[in-house]
Amino acid sequence: MNTMQTYIEEAEAALLHTYNRYQIVLDKGEGVYLYDIEGKKYLDFCSGIGVFALGYGNQDYNQALKEQIDKVIHTSNYYYNVPAIEAAKKLKKVSGMDRVFYTNSGAEAVEGAIKAARKYAFLKDGQTDHEIIAMEHSFHGRTMGALSVTGNPKYREAFEPMIGNIRFALLNDYDSVVSQVNEKTCAIILETVQGEGGVHPATEEFLQKIRALCDEKNILLILDEIQCGMGRCGTMFAWQQYGIRPDILTTAKALGCGIPVGAFLLTEKVAQASLAAGDHGTTYGGNPLAGAAINKVLDLFEQNHIIKHVASVGEELEKELNRLAEKYDCIKARRGKGLMQGLELDRPVAGIISRALENGLILINAGPNVIRFLPPLIITSEHIRRMLDILEPCLNDCSE
Ligand SMILES: *Cc1c(COP(=O)(O)O)cnc(C)c1O
Repeated sequence: MNTMQTYIEEAEAALLHTYNRYQIVLDKGEGVYLYDIEGKKYLDFCSGIGVFALGYGNQDYNQALKEQIDKVIHTSNYYYNVPAIEAAKKLKKVSGMDRVFYTNSGAEAVEGAIKAARKYAFLKDGQTDHEIIAMEHSFHGRTMGALSVTGNPKYREAFEPMIGNIRFALLNDYDSVVSQVNEKTCAIILETVQGEGGVHPATEEFLQKIRALCDEKNILLILDEIQCGMGRCGTMFAWQQYGIRPDILTTAKALGCGIPVGAFLLTEKVAQASLAAGDHGTTYGGNPLAGAAINKVLDLFEQNHIIKHVASVGEELEKELNRLAEKYDCIKARRGKGLMQGLELDRPVAGIISRALENGLILINAGPNVIRFLPPLIITSEHIRRMLDILEPCLNDCSE
């Protein structure tokens, strides 16, 4: 029989090495726990990077997928299918947006959002030199368009030239955005809570001023909630806490809870004056299996009062992390909303995360110095306590 080590060697001989992976081979999941192929159990505070919101092995969810697989998995976008229609109605309801385009990933949702914004501007003035403002330290995905608005030069450098006419500003620094605006600006794109860049929420004042700026200048506001949306921050979408609405919204990750799906949503105003028949497409996007997944996820969110649960358990996690930040000198700050939290340390966190993993706790980083917490949204107080029981001894060493 293969051991973990032999599987890892086989993986490194066969897969393109684009990840420095943790040295475990995962096998199955149950609730908020994952098991490796040797049977070791891990408490999962990463949920596949904010994807598996409902936990592993949810029987309702699995059953819905199995039934759809037996009916039909794929038909193409040349025809209508019921799961995609039902899911779109539900998505409109929970987001307050007006129209949905399904994608297969987050990056692809961002690509669509960029195309919609450019087309909208093109239809207004017939020009093709429009600019987009994005934020430093942002992350929007790895395809060329999404990478072009990602504010991390390290990810971009080797792949230049990017798509043109992108300018960068600083999250929560309104003046830095204003200084980049001109008559060619067609969109401002930002994550309501920056994920990969270190878990930085936009402030209410900043986001409201950006919304007002966009309204005044007829610039489209694109909010990327691929990570911070779908209940993670204690409301279905994080922007719903800010008293504003975007013109275009991107979602993915927890939207399908494991089935690779994404979407961008538009207001009617943008939908009516941007992408039209023939402008955009996808073979898989919104196929019956994807639709069934989104449908079931949204049903289970409602039936199990997930949003309310996140709001209360998120508060608890926040309180405990604040306590750690008080107690350990090496912790500089706690940031985040709901069940999207980060602890910024005064040193690299890789060693702490590796030690936690050895002790049966899965955590991830967000940049070199931030420990990121993205547990399944169904965690309870007990899981938070267990997480702290494992994490705290790992931090003890780091205070020395
Ligand atoms: C993960 C992520 C993406 C990219 O999603 P993929 O599905 O990996 O393409 C884009 N934006 C944000 C905010 C993300 O967290």
